[in-house]
Amino acid sequence: MSAADARRLLPSVDAVLQVAGPATAAARRRLTNMVREVLAEARTSGGSRGGELSAATVARLAGERLAERDRPTLRRVINATGVVLHTNLGRAPLSAAALAAVMDAAGAVSVEYDLAAGRRGERHGHAAQLLADLAGAEDAIVVNNNAAAVLLTLAAVAARREVVVARGELVEIGGGFRIPDVLSRSGARLVEVGTTNRTYARDYEAAIGTKTAALLRVHTSNFRITGFVARPEDGELAALARARGVVFIHDLGSGTFLDTARHGLGREQRVPEAIAAGADLVTFSGDKLLGGPQAGLVVGRAALIARLRAHPLMRALRPDKLTLAALVATLVTYREGRADQELPIWRMIGARPAALARRGAALVGRLAEAGIASRVVVTASTVGGGSLPDETQPSRAVALDVASVQVATAALRAANPPVIARVVDGSLALDLRSVLPEDDALLAAAVAHALVGLAVPAPRRKGSATTVRISRQGVSDPVVGLPPRAAPRRSKKEK
Ligand SMILES: *Cc1c(COP(=O)(O)O)cnc(C)c1O
Repeated sequence: MSAADARRLLPSVDAVLQVAGPATAAARRRLTNMVREVLAEARTSGGSRGGELSAATVARLAGERLAERDRPTLRRVINATGVVLHTNLGRAPLSAAALAAVMDAAGAVSVEYDLAAGRRGERHGHAAQLLADLAGAEDAIVVNNNAAAVLLTLAAVAARREVVVARGELVEIGGGFRIPDVLSRSGARLVEVGTTNRTYARDYEAAIGTKTAALLRVHTSNFRITGFVARPEDGELAALARARGVVFIHDLGSGTFLDTARHGLGREQRVPEAIAAGADLVTFSGDKLLGGPQAGLVVGRAALIARLRAHPLMRALRPDKLTLAALVATLVTYREGRADQELPIWRMIGARPAALARRGAALVGRLAEAGIASRVVVTASTVGGGSLPDETQPSRAVALDVASVQVATAALRAANPPVIARVVDGSLALDLRSVLPEDDALLAAAVAHALVGLAVPAPRRKGSATTVRISRQGVSDPVVGLPPRAAPRRSKKEK
């Protein structure tokens, strides 16, 4: 068929709009554009569709495309990756208390209003006292994220002056956050000392001159240097900074108030420990191990925090009312000693393998009801989000037999809600450490719906060879095991 013939078989835009009959002028405009797009494609494909396209068909095609385009891309997902703090999946889920606080703060709220005095108040006051108390610091301030906290701190303390940093700590965190770049953006000048693996207090000392404003220590959040390594203790840097009249800034990165070592992980220095060790300013994230909303927190000396608060950048970096509400609620949970039980990330990190195995067995049962075969396997999960590099925890996942892992993971991503799975040694696995127990039923339903026809059917008979026997204590021995990527171990933090 010639192009001219094909054209004759296509409806006019008006004819399609007549069929579709959009209600509003705006809807009509959007549909008109989409109809033109569909017709243009039909024209250039030269009638290869074979035959006529009716007005109704074009209206349907255009409608489907619009619906596709309108589908929100920012969606709630189930994180079955086994990475508890997944930066691409929004890091820490908020606690119920934080969520309730966000709802409360959504309307009119006293974000910059002093209710006692009846006049304009301090945006930063809400979280500052709580934060300072928890950290054992004099004062605190909140900005949008830790990158902003580092930028503001350097700008307020060291613009047009020098900042001394160990070469082994000139890190890139991810998302383009590089310490040397942030330093130069803040207007400070970087002075590198030491070597990649070894830096001594005397290296810092030799670098301090009349232009020096600060010593900066940066947590190497996402890698680990082991072997022939040396770095001064915080206390040595603090004493040196004090003696020479410069500021000691410590970018802790994740920043935790709880002890990670209780959960078989390496020990992360806690925020109060960094303050107690003599740092003048400590910066950390709100949505990493703190388990709150995205935020950047700075705690430390009152006189320095006052300089940050008064800096012109502060206005550009200030947090919104929803962030403040969620952060305050999260901090209150710490103050009341309920963080372990109530903050989602600590519930995930604290989950015992036996409990994960029981949930895995239940999920296997639910999937079997939908005719999908699966089994509980041993995995190693990570905390992620730029904390505890190389550290893993023993975890349990539900592994699925699928013809194509690629097709199945795509189907899971298209599920409702989308499920982000992990692939361990070529197998599709749903790691339960990063899933909250209250989401298990939703996970089962989403997976069952998405994988019907893609997964190997579950055997009809009970107790067949592919069924993993589950005891009341958990998965009976031997668990069908995917070897953990790295053996769980305690970290030997380089000193
Ligand atoms: C994660 C991290 C940052 C950046 O924090 P965001 O809250 O993601 O902006 C900065 N420094 C260190 C050491 C980090 O680990």
